[in-house]
Amino acid sequence: MTEELLRSLPSIERLLARPEVVRLCEQLGRDRVRDLLRDITEEIRREIIEGRLSANGRPDLLIDEIEKRMRERSARISQPSLRRVVNATGVIIHTNLGRAPLARAAAEAIKETASHYSNLEYDLDRGERGRRESHCRELLARLTGARSAVVVNNNAAAVLLVLNTLAEGGEVIVSRGELIEIGGSFRIPDVMEKSGARLREVGTTNRTRIEDYQRAINQDTKLILRVHPSNYRIIGFTERPSAAEIADLARRALLPSFEDLGSGCLIDLSPYGVTDEPVVSESFKAGMSVVSFSGDKMLGGPQAGIIAGERELMDRVRKNPLMRALRVDKMTYAAIEATLRLYERGAAHRDVPVIRAIAATRDRVAERAERFSEDVEKRTEGRVRASLEEGASVIGGGSAPEVKLATVLVALESNELSARSIEEMLRGHAIPVIARTERDRVMIDLRTVAEDEESIILDALGP
Ligand SMILES: *Cc1c(COP(=O)(O)O)cnc(C)c1O
Repeated sequence: MTEELLRSLPSIERLLARPEVVRLCEQLGRDRVRDLLRDITEEIRREIIEGRLSANGRPDLLIDEIEKRMRERSARISQPSLRRVVNATGVIIHTNLGRAPLARAAAEAIKETASHYSNLEYDLDRGERGRRESHCRELLARLTGARSAVVVNNNAAAVLLVLNTLAEGGEVIVSRGELIEIGGSFRIPDVMEKSGARLREVGTTNRTRIEDYQRAINQDTKLILRVHPSNYRIIGFTERPSAAEIADLARRALLPSFEDLGSGCLIDLSPYGVTDEPVVSESFKAGMSVVSFSGDKMLGGPQAGIIAGERELMDRVRKNPLMRALRVDKMTYAAIEATLRLYERGAAHRDVPVIRAIAATRDRVAERAERFSEDVEKRTEGRVRASLEEGASVIGGGSAPEVKLATVLVALESNELSARSIEEMLRGHAIPVIARTERDRVMIDLRTVAEDEESIILDALGP
């Protein structure tokens, strides 16, 4: 039997002529398909020899088996590596899930800019070469209250560039309580070292006073740095000077002051319960010379780092040779500009997904959760039970770690399926749905799920 099966294994050429394989060749290219067919036939040959594949003694079934494996494999390899997912975790700025989803206007601006020529470095008024850095500059200045602004690849790049421009070869004074590490191994002391500036730590982990900064100033001092502690809080017996105190001290010593805000909100989110994230314009009101923040945290835009500040300092930043290595592309400018325009129009709470998710009330989420849980039971014909439970969504992305936004979770469970199987089913869907598992139930937080994504979750659970 084994002999007969081996003999009836079709040749690669014969397989390549099969209509289904011809279609695959159009998608994947003939060479790629030929390689796959070789691998699969070899695999099947081995299975036959080892007695693991008998094809029910029917050599004519071998070709079906080969085609079946070919279909599975080509489906897998034609999936892009980077894929859209549905974020049902309730973590709004989810670092593992691409941080901020863009506003529709921003996505459209990217599409328009990406597929056409643009005036990226062309001055349309004068008909001559223009400057890339001119885009977004005034818009950012208006929205932050700064004189000028520069956009770079992310906030880590922004901090590196500011330190290098303003303090290379000199000392930067910073509080011990602010020598933080944020996720992804961004550590202030390490970035400082790479910038060529020397760290001058002052104060203690929990208390630093303005006098500590004052005493540390010497002829090598180039900059005073203040860092928003982002993902961590020291509570209890603590003290740190306000931005205004730091800015005053720096001004009197004829030094620039720089605040790394991390998230950097453009609008006050305290009406929604987010009280410990600084608003960018407040730093300038306090007198800071330069601030930096991320484009894809609370701003809700693309990955970018925004540096804003005094005109003369921004000119120096722009002229730094590192700028060329850290600059952003046209699509990033397009997305930032479109996002900022939503803020300018006062439409951020409606049109910027991150802000919309923060602004959604518990009752609004509850309404959706109620309807959705009924849809789940209907769609799965009761196979999956859905119940409602009070819970909390978080901001994530190292921002506002103490803020808990009241939400209503949909808890999924089933007599036939373990929580793990439900979670895997969701994650294995054509558009993967990412949810948390808690006490043997799968929890869906609709706060981070767009309304038109609910049907994707139903499809993933559905028959
Ligand atoms: C997030 C963060 C950064 C790094 O920003 P990226 O945009 O992720 O590079 C730097 N500093 C602080 C305080 C942060 O919170």
